[in-house]
Amino acid sequence: MAEYKTTIGIEVHAQLKTDTKLFCGCPVSFGDEANSNVCSVCLGLPGVLPALNKKAVELAIKAGLTLNCEIHEKSIFARKNYFYPDLPKGYQITQYRFPIATGGRILVEGKEIRIKRVHLEEESAKSIHEENRSLIDYNRSGIPLIEIVTEPDINSPDMAVAYLKILQKILQSQSISGAVMARAEFRCEPNISVSKEEGKLGTRTEVKNLNSFKAVTKSLSSEVKRQIEILESGGSITQATIHYSEETGKTWEARTKEESSDYRYFPEPDLPPLVVDKEWIEEIRSSIGELPTERKEKYIELGLTAEDAKIISNSPGSSRLFEEILKIIGDPVEISKWILRDYMSLGQPDISAENFAEMIKMVADGEISRNAGAEVLKEMVESKKTPEQIVKEKNLIQISDSTTLEKVLLEVFEECPGELNRLKEGEKKLIGFFVGQVMKKTKGKADPKEVSRLISEYEKKY
Ligand SMILES: [Zn+2]
Repeated sequence: MAEYKTTIGIEVHAQLKTDTKLFCGCPVSFGDEANSNVCSVCLGLPGVLPALNKKAVELAIKAGLTLNCEIHEKSIFARKNYFYPDLPKGYQITQYRFPIATGGRILVEGKEIRIKRVHLEEESAKSIHEENRSLIDYNRSGIPLIEIVTEPDINSPDMAVAYLKILQKILQSQSISGAVMARAEFRCEPNISVSKEEGKLGTRTEVKNLNSFKAVTKSLSSEVKRQIEILESGGSITQATIHYSEETGKTWEARTKEESSDYRYFPEPDLPPLVVDKEWIEEIRSSIGELPTERKEKYIELGLTAEDAKIISNSPGSSRLFEEILKIIGDPVEISKWILRDYMSLGQPDISAENFAEMIKMVADGEISRNAGAEVLKEMVESKKTPEQIVKEKNLIQISDSTTLEKVLLEVFEECPGELNRLKEGEKKLIGFFVGQVMKKTKGKADPKEVSRLISEYEKKY
C-alpha cells in the first residue's frame, strides 16, 4: 500500500481582548447572567447601525504583524448571510474578499507554515440545547473575533497541535487574545485531506467542535484513518463537515459543506471601508514585544538546551531578568541554571537584576558556596538587601582556606572512623560523604571543591 500523505490547514477563531463588543458598547465579559450584556445593535433590532471598535482593529493589526502578514490599509466588511437563531440579524458581519491582513508565516518545529489571512468578524450568540427546548444567550453576540487561516502546510495531527500551541502563546504574550480554550476564546477548525498522488491534494473535510488540543490530535488521527479506509475500499471522500465525539474518539460526516456562494456575501452597506493609516500600523508594530519563539531560538544560540530555552522564553518575567543579568555578567548557561533551579521555584518574584548578577558572581568567584547563593537569593526577595549585606549579616563567606578546612576535615575523620577505613580501602563514594560532613560542620560555608581536593590529597598518603 502506497503511503498516504496527510495535508492539514487550520482556521482559528480567537476572541480579541477588548472591553466592549465589535460594533456596540456592550461589555465583553465571561460568566455574566445570560442576556445581560445586550443592546439593540447586538440583538440585531431593525434600524440600528454598527459602530466599529477601534481597539479590536488595533488588536487585529497586531495579530497580523506578529504573524508576519502584510497589513492592508483598506479592508472591507461584508455580510455573510445565513439563518440561525443565534444570528438575529440574519447575517454575520465579517471580512471576506478584502481582509485586514494576508500573506504571513510562522515557524513550527523548523517548518514554515504560511498564514493565508487574518480577518475581523463578529461572534454569534450562544445556543444552549436542553432536552425539550433550546435557549440563546446573546451576551456573546457581537464579541470581536479574528479568524486566522493557514495554507495547507501542516502534515500531521501532531504538527497541527504544535502550530496551535505556538499561535496561542503568541496571541497571549502580545495580549491580543486571552485564548483560553475552555472559555471558547480560542477555537479551531482544521480541514484535512489525504492523498497518495504526489503534488495532488485529496478532497478535504472540515472538523468542527474541537475544544481541546487532545481533541485536535484524536479527531485528526481518526479522520485520517476514516478517509484512508474509504479510499482503500474504492470509495471517494465527500467535501463535508465532520463532527468528533470526545466520548467515542470517532469522527463522522455531519452534512455536506456549504460553498461560499451559499452565503451570498456582499459588502456591508452600513460600514464604510476600513481604512488604517501607515503611521498607526507602524505605531502598533513598535509596540510588539519579542515573541517567545524568537527568544527561544536566541537562547539556544547562546548555548541553552532546547528545553531550558523553551521554559525561560515562555515566561516574559524570567526572560526579561535573564537578559538583564546577561548584560551584566555574561555566562548565559550559568544564569539559566539559577533562573530555572532557584528563581522560578521562588515563584518569579520581583528582584533587582544587579543584585541577582552580583550573587551569581560571588558564587562563581568562590566567595560564597552555591547553597549560600540560594540562601542569599531568598533573602534578597524578602528583605530587598544587597547580596553583600546579606552575606555579611549571615556570615556566609565561603571558607576556602585549606588550613581551616583541613582542621575541620580531620575532626570529621575522627568522628567517623568506620567510613574513614572504607575510604582507605578505596571506596570512592565516601568522598562525597566526607564533603557533606564538612559542609554540615561549617554550616554550608566550606568550599566543596577545596574539601574534595583535600580528601584526595589525604587519600594519596595511604
Ligand atoms: Zn450591544
